[in-house]
Amino acid sequence: MLKLIGQETVLEPLRELLKSSRLPTSFVIAGPSGSGKKTLAQVLARAVLCENGRVNEDCSCNPCHKVATGIHPEVRWIAADEEQNSIKIEEIHQLINWSSFKVMEGSHKIFILNRAEKMTEEAANALLKTLEEPSADTLIFLLIENPANLRQTLLSRCFKIKMRPLAVKTVLEILVNDFHWEPEEAMLAAKCSQGWLGQALKFRDENFSEMRKVFLEEIFPQPMAGFERWAGKKRHEVGKSLRFLAMLLRDIAVYRETQNPEFLYQNRFEEAFEKWSAHFSTQAILELLNLIDETQNALQDNVNPKIALARLSSAMSQCHE
Ligand SMILES: [Zn+2]
Repeated sequence: MLKLIGQETVLEPLRELLKSSRLPTSFVIAGPSGSGKKTLAQVLARAVLCENGRVNEDCSCNPCHKVATGIHPEVRWIAADEEQNSIKIEEIHQLINWSSFKVMEGSHKIFILNRAEKMTEEAANALLKTLEEPSADTLIFLLIENPANLRQTLLSRCFKIKMRPLAVKTVLEILVNDFHWEPEEAMLAAKCSQGWLGQALKFRDENFSEMRKVFLEEIFPQPMAGFERWAGKKRHEVGKSLRFLAMLLRDIAVYRETQNPEFLYQNRFEEAFEKWSAHFSTQAILELLNLIDETQNALQDNVNPKIALARLSSAMSQCHE
């Protein structure tokens, strides 16, 4: 059954809200990729439509089943595709048009607008009109990575929900207990996740050894050419590789400083690892880690991966000089 795991601090106040008679009609759910925004929107849609009033709990009612399997006729998505470039006015018009019909099944019609920051100016204007004159049986969820990218007039009309990162230890426990991952893989994925379960789950079936080898043997020796090959990759794949890179650089810095294998995330000392730990200064690694953060933020703000990576690859090349 569709469930949001580990986000009780976010869910608890929403349970109260769902029970109250004054449910807001529009919501903004903010958080980075992999933070559970889509799951939360579906969980709330399920709660609103559930015949038994359940919130994030198992339920065998028909509406819950339909929402969880994505076939409920009153739940509609816009821009469900992560790579869609923009949300156009036509899509918002469809939404407005549809919201003028009577509800056919259950109590509400629910729209989930994924990556709301991709709305064109016209689309945002059209949506604003809808939010200004809300219809009581329509709920709108705007999902966004960075609320600063949504215009204030829209933001101010929505109830705001912010996803919260979990402790890395909690992510690890969830991966092992709920998803039955091997502890070692789970630990590495949890360390790369920055506390976001969805990001950790993206490492499912990842070959960590292979990823490490690519960095140590191909990208570190020739960063420009190495990152160049990422240019055509999707944003979320680049983000994932960067999270792994941060973990690897952190291991190199720790090894340089302590020489103690017990403090490393990946306890391995191949020749290339030894070589790069001698090569990169700790200062350079700290700077690279900062740049990785900035690159991640740029990717979140929709900067083209190639441009976002340019500074990082040039900084890494300079480490060779
Ligand atoms: Zn139900």
